[in-house]
Formats: sequence, structure tokens, C-alpha cells
Amino acid sequence: MTKTLARFLAQARRTPDRVACRYGDGVLTYRQLEEGSAALAAVLEEALGEDRRPVAVYGGRQPEMIRAFLACVRSGRAYLPIDDSCPMARLRTTLAAADASVLLCCQPLPEDLEGLNIWEASRVEEAAACGKECPENLAVSEEAPFYILSTSGSSGQPKCVAVSGGNLDAFMEWAGPLCGNGVILGSSPFSFDLSVPGIYCAITSGGTLAAVSLDDMDYRELFYQMGQSQADLFIATPSFVSFCLADQTFNQDLMPRLERFLFCGETLSPRQSRALFRRFPRAQVWNSYGPTEATVAVTAVEVTRKMAESGDPLPAGAPMGRNRIWISDKEGNSKEDGRLGEIMLEGPQVALGYLAGEPGFSVLPNGDRLYATGDLGCLRDGQLWYHGRLDRQVKLRGYRVEAGGVAEHLRSLRGVAAAEVVPVLDEEGRPQWLAGFVIPEEGCPSPERLAKELRKQLYPYMVPRRIVLVDAFPLTPNGKLDRKRLVELL
Ligand code: AMP
Repeated sequence: MTKTLARFLAQARRTPDRVACRYGDGVLTYRQLEEGSAALAAVLEEALGEDRRPVAVYGGRQPEMIRAFLACVRSGRAYLPIDDSCPMARLRTTLAAADASVLLCCQPLPEDLEGLNIWEASRVEEAAACGKECPENLAVSEEAPFYILSTSGSSGQPKCVAVSGGNLDAFMEWAGPLCGNGVILGSSPFSFDLSVPGIYCAITSGGTLAAVSLDDMDYRELFYQMGQSQADLFIATPSFVSFCLADQTFNQDLMPRLERFLFCGETLSPRQSRALFRRFPRAQVWNSYGPTEATVAVTAVEVTRKMAESGDPLPAGAPMGRNRIWISDKEGNSKEDGRLGEIMLEGPQVALGYLAGEPGFSVLPNGDRLYATGDLGCLRDGQLWYHGRLDRQVKLRGYRVEAGGVAEHLRSLRGVAAAEVVPVLDEEGRPQWLAGFVIPEEGCPSPERLAKELRKQLYPYMVPRRIVLVDAFPLTPNGKLDRKRLVELL
């Protein structure tokens, strides 16, 4: 059994009646989480027997999702979270990409799906309440996949990252102490790895995960829940906090106990940090960096007021735990002292790999894994500095999107002769939304209908906000697509 799971079980024995996780009115105590996950694990094991393939779990941020995750790993199966914003066509391709055996639903699916092994929410609920016990020796080991997350792939198909029990344990070694044992406000969907520290740091320490959502809660509800949460720690993307900062009531009076913000996933700006210091004079601001492929985050740094006031870009942090980071030139040699190159990650947090074996990972002679991030950066004074991507991956509202993958979907639609998708940037150069450009052929529907078709296949944040029909794409003098001039066509 992994250390993280063992810690949760020990904690559940110590504080059975404490609230482990909350979303709106939905609450599960440690006892409910432990007993419910054991019973569901036992029923899963009976039903699936030798079939150890991953189990997909569908829903929003209700605590029952976490109960289902724990049930999967206690029965020796990795879980694959699928957020309820996932369109059904995408759900199918994700289940196929992960070779999932079953879809456990924590809420009803929006439509009937033929040909899948689906456990409806009522069946999951019944299993969790049956009181059965699950033998501890079934649980996922350190070497085996603990969870599988699907990320956006450049081919348009989901790419599944397998994170092992040992990867999660290695992350928790340093993230646990940083996150403390209080109330953690988590704003990320469970299908995104920034939700991982909120879940596991809370339930292994006697803390509580208070989940909130921008997608399912309206603005007033979100602020009400934040106010009610008694949060000590706020884990979010910079995009999420920008949204909150737009409201003046987002300040220490709303969350008087808040001691720390922890950011990851996107560039945190000095301006955002200054605003947080003004609004939350008693809170610390921490920045961290990492991809799903290296288990949430591999660096961290406390952003000081001095750093924020200097106005210079903020560091992404120093390597934490047993992570090793180096910067590679094109030939794979290490670059030092502030010279730019690709950020390379090594150590026990580097995931098992992609399920379909896509490139990016390699195994080192000492058995550790190496992941080439595709991120551009440098190391200076022991800190990592992030300088963007080497490819066309972007972050939109904190979500990772491959513009090339979205273009592939657009190209597959009827009446589309050619298509390109590019991010539209704000004045600070940050991607704000996607624009799609289509050269139509006979039978091409209107841009609105094209967008409607895409919404059937892609998460809402991946769908271009505007689609424009054009006669031809502008080219650079050497004949390549001129993305800058393309955006000017908007
Ligand atoms: P995800 O797998 O969704 O967590 O996205 C990982 C990617 O987010 C990384 O490869 C980076 O491109 C970006 N990222 C993560 N942390 C940071 C950070 N602190 N600053 C800038 N970009 C980041």
C-alpha cells in the first residue's frame, strides 16, 4: 500500500467524525470516506475480479468523487477522473484511450451511452453503503498507476498520463508539510492535477478539502462558499485568482483565517502578487511549477513583497523534495547559469509515462525517469524561471490546451478544407482565448454551427470563441503559416 493511502486510513481512525471534504452542502466525514470507499472497493473487486484496468469516475466536485477515487485504489485499480463538463464524445475517446473497464457515475450522465460498462450513481451509492470491508493487500502498490489524467494532445486525441502511487508519495513528502493540516480551498476540477494537493494534503492530515467551482457555482455562491470555508490555504491557478480579484470583497475579511496562497499551472505576475499582499496582508504567496507528467509540481518559492514590488518576472521556484531539474540545449547537454533551454525533470515524481507510449519520457541508468517538458526556462541562483513553451501548447483559464489538437478537430468537420487555431493574447502576452480560421469547401456550415459541432467533441474551454471563414491563410516569406497576420484577420 502507498504511504499516502496508509496515512489517510490512519487519519480516519484518529478523527472519524471530522469533515474530510465538502462541496456546497455535500459533506463526507473521515469515517464516511473510509467506510464508503472500503465497501465500494469490495463490490468493485467482486464485480471485476482479475480485471485490473483503470476505472473511470464521472462527476463534478462532490465528495463522493473522492470516495470513488479511494475505492478504486483500495481495490487495486487506478482511477481516471472525468469532469462533468466533458462532452460525451470526448468521454468515449478518453475511456478508450485509458482502456477503462467501468465508468462509475457520481451523478447522472446527460445522455444514455450504449456499449459502455456504466455504474449509475444509485448503484455506486448502494455499493458504498453495503458495509463490506476490503482487504488491505489489494491496494495499489507504489509501482502501479494510482491515477490517470487525460490531457490535451496535439493530435486532437486525449493523452493519458499514468501517475504511480510512488509518484504521489514523493510529491506528498514536501507538499504535505507546505499545505499544513487546516482547511484547504481547492478550485480545480478533479480531472486537473492541481486538485491533487487539495485532496491528499487534506485527507492525510486531518484537514478538510473545501471545494469550490467557477463553472458550477454562480458568482455569489462562489464568494459565499469561500467566506464559509474558514480556509487556511487557497490552491488555485493565477487565472482563477484574477477572476476573484476583480471583486473588491475578495480580501482578508472574506477569509480571515487565510494564511497562504499556493499557485501552479501558469505564470503568476508581480501585479497579481501585489494585489494579494494588499488584500490579504496576513497571507503568504507561494508560486510553484510542474506538469501533470511530474505529479503536480516540482518547485516552490515564497514570493516576497520585495519580489512583487520589483515588478520583475517572478521565479517559478527551487526544486522541492527529491526532484532534479536541469536545462537542456538542442543536443541534450546541460546549460547553466541563466542560459535558456528546455526544462528537464528527473526523480521519483516523474510519472510512469503516457498510456499510449507517446514520447517525452525516458529511463535513466539508475532507474529514475526523465521527462522533457517542452517548457522553455533557465536556472539562476538556484531558482527556475519559466519562459514559455517550445511548442503550441497554451494555458487558457489555467487549462492546458494544444491549439494544434483543436485545429485537428476543426479539420475533421464536414465542409472544412483547411483549418488553423491560434491563441489571442492580452496586452501582457498571455493567451486569452482561441480563434479558429477555416478555409471552407462546399457544404461548409456557418461558424456558429462549426462551433456547435466542436462543443460536442471538446471541453468548453477548448472551443474557439470565434471562428472566421477565410479564402487563404497568410504565409511568411519562407512559406510557413504566419500566425501573427492570421490573428490580424479577426
Ligand atoms: P498541467 O499539466 O496542466 O499542470 O500543465 C503543465 C504546464 O503548465 C507546464 O508544462 C507549464 O507549461 C505550465 N506551468 C506550470 N506551472 C507553471 C508556472 N509556475 N509558471 C508558468 N507556467 C507553468
